[in-house]
Amino acid sequence: MTGTMATDVCIIGGGIAGCSAALHLAKRGISVVLLEKGRIGAQASGVNFGGVRRQGRHLAEIPLALRGRPMWDRMVDLVGEDCEFRATGHLRLARDPADMAALETYARDAGALGLDLELIGGNELRRRFPWLSEVPVGASWCPGDGQANPRVVGPAFGRAARAAGADLREGEEAATFERDGKGFRIATTSGLAITSRALVNTAGAWAGRVAGHFDEPVPIHSIAPQMVVTEPSPHVIGPVLGIVGGALYLRQIERGNVIFGGGDGLADIATTRSTVLPRNTVEVGALACRLIPHLARLNVIRVWTGIEGEMADVIPVIGPSRTTPGLFHAFGFSGHGFQLGPIVGVILAELIADGTTPSPIAPFDIGRFVG
Ligand SMILES: Cc1cc2nc3c(=O)[nH]c(=O)nc-3n(C[C@H](O)[C@H](O)[C@H](O)COP(=O)(O)OP(=O)(O)OC[C@H]3O[C@@H](n4cnc5c(N)ncnc54)[C@H](O)[C@@H]3O)c2cc1C
Repeated sequence: MTGTMATDVCIIGGGIAGCSAALHLAKRGISVVLLEKGRIGAQASGVNFGGVRRQGRHLAEIPLALRGRPMWDRMVDLVGEDCEFRATGHLRLARDPADMAALETYARDAGALGLDLELIGGNELRRRFPWLSEVPVGASWCPGDGQANPRVVGPAFGRAARAAGADLREGEEAATFERDGKGFRIATTSGLAITSRALVNTAGAWAGRVAGHFDEPVPIHSIAPQMVVTEPSPHVIGPVLGIVGGALYLRQIERGNVIFGGGDGLADIATTRSTVLPRNTVEVGALACRLIPHLARLNVIRVWTGIEGEMADVIPVIGPSRTTPGLFHAFGFSGHGFQLGPIVGVILAELIADGTTPSPIAPFDIGRFVG
């Protein structure tokens, strides 16, 4: 589409972070144009595992994850549907005493930040979760964590943002962006031109291009976490499972399918294509069956992967640009931005509208990569 539009804020990227920012800015009466090169919520936000967890995160992310957690309970009020969010709990398994010691240390550190975790020994673990094998020696239990359907979350935030007045454009790739005296000029590959007071970089795995354009090169690379889903079977696995080291994550949805992931495929941001490596699927399937023996009887019906931006230090960039007034970044969620996405949109709206946020975002400053 050609033409020129003026707006308060232009957002590049229509994943969960960008759509939540659009929603929360529009609710404050701020005009927003969001550009999405493909479809809303179709990249990492739409193809991820669906884990909505706080435990296991980098400790710097815990305050954001805690602040964002109540938003998942209020999805119906926020975006008009529950997005299949269920607080099923999250169980992080240890396979040996060293892993268990790591869980104990983490529980102590996370507890100091307000995240209460229960440590469970092997016998108690099998009493409470009898479908587990003898392999885990213990676990850490976070009852308020859970799961949601990623396929509906991003589009739901997009619809809510539109209903609040934001202008979301699909099939519009921001190709050039420049700062002029008063704000920004953005042009899309189809010829649409936008002028804005502020610019938001929520371009996911592609965000390094935007940051680099404003002289903020960042160490971001693309990853492609691999996913598997089985045929439906009776629903027995209540919580979401993780494992120390991250080699496996697994959940069973209410319809009965077991979804699990582990290992990385190939990601290509130039073509927006990612590829599953079969040997990873076999390895993660074998591990899943060692932990939950009855899975061995199930057929795998589909495998997939998606493209995610991972920072060198595996925590995201969130906050204002250090080179360009009016530019705000939120990207590089490094495989765990689904749970954070809704609150990141709130934080971006606070930074733009209020000039500050009550959330401690200093660890995510893009300036950490300078020098
Ligand atoms: C397979 C997989 C499993 C995962 N599992 C989990 C999990 O269980 N729990 C969890 O918390 N996290 C998980 N994640 C990570 C999580 O999905 C992401 O961190 C999160 O969705 C990132 O959201 P986003 O909005 O930043 O990026 P995205 O959803 O990638 O959105 C960025 C958007 O920007 C658009 N874009 C890029 N450049 C431009 C441009 N120039 N112009 C216009 N549009 C542009 C892209 O098309 C894309 O739609 C997983 C990721 C993957 C891939």
